[in-house]
Amino acid sequence: MATQQQLLQAFDSLLQPADFKDYGPNGLQVEGKAEVARIVSGVTASRALIEAAIEARADAILVHHGLFWRGQDGRVTGWMKHRLALLLGHDINLFAYHLPLDAHPHLGNNAQLGLNLGLQATGRFGDQELGFLGQRGDGGAFADTQALADHLQRVLGRPVVQVGRPTGAIHRIGWCTGGAQDYFEAAIAAGADAFITGEISEPQAHYARETGVAFLACGHHASERYGAPAVAARVAADLGLEHQFIDIDNPA
Ligand SMILES: [Zn+2]
Repeated sequence: MATQQQLLQAFDSLLQPADFKDYGPNGLQVEGKAEVARIVSGVTASRALIEAAIEARADAILVHHGLFWRGQDGRVTGWMKHRLALLLGHDINLFAYHLPLDAHPHLGNNAQLGLNLGLQATGRFGDQELGFLGQRGDGGAFADTQALADHLQRVLGRPVVQVGRPTGAIHRIGWCTGGAQDYFEAAIAAGADAFITGEISEPQAHYARETGVAFLACGHHASERYGAPAVAARVAADLGLEHQFIDIDNPA
């Protein structure tokens, strides 16, 4: 058992949200009960995740994508009303950390995706140093872009979109989870042979063809499944809480 404030302090001291310029508030987004015994972690504070957390009798939820983002109009109607009503009605705390959860050097989305892919990070690049740069942890290289795409598909269990660099071994790999397609140019400048992220937009296909640096989009959700459970598991162990990760499948 821990208090909601102890939990907030534990997340904050691990993730250092004050160091980031973010698109929404990090920390306790919706206040619930004062005492917490059970945490559920997930990627997004969707209605399905909140319902699953209620089913699991969670006192707190930790997510990467919270409820509040810059640019929303602020009305509590429709889907927002339903999500908030479920949280408030069951007195569940909602903790959300966006960029701090991408960035943590060991437990964050990027670090944990790298771990799952067998990549070793040796540097960082891009805005707020969110991009990770490295190579295979075993010292080897991928024979070509297709070999890297096959590896991603095997590990993440979903199709991968790949563009550019039809031939040539892949040694240096840049990666940044989620919707980080705008980090591609910084990855190119950092000397990557390939860049992995969740999503691709129109311009990146051309950059990949024209620079010879491969672009691989492996799914926003699929690439961001690892940070929240890693952080929640660490904090739950430190504070003596129960923790469970609930994955709500998302094709995007
Ligand atoms: Zn994301």
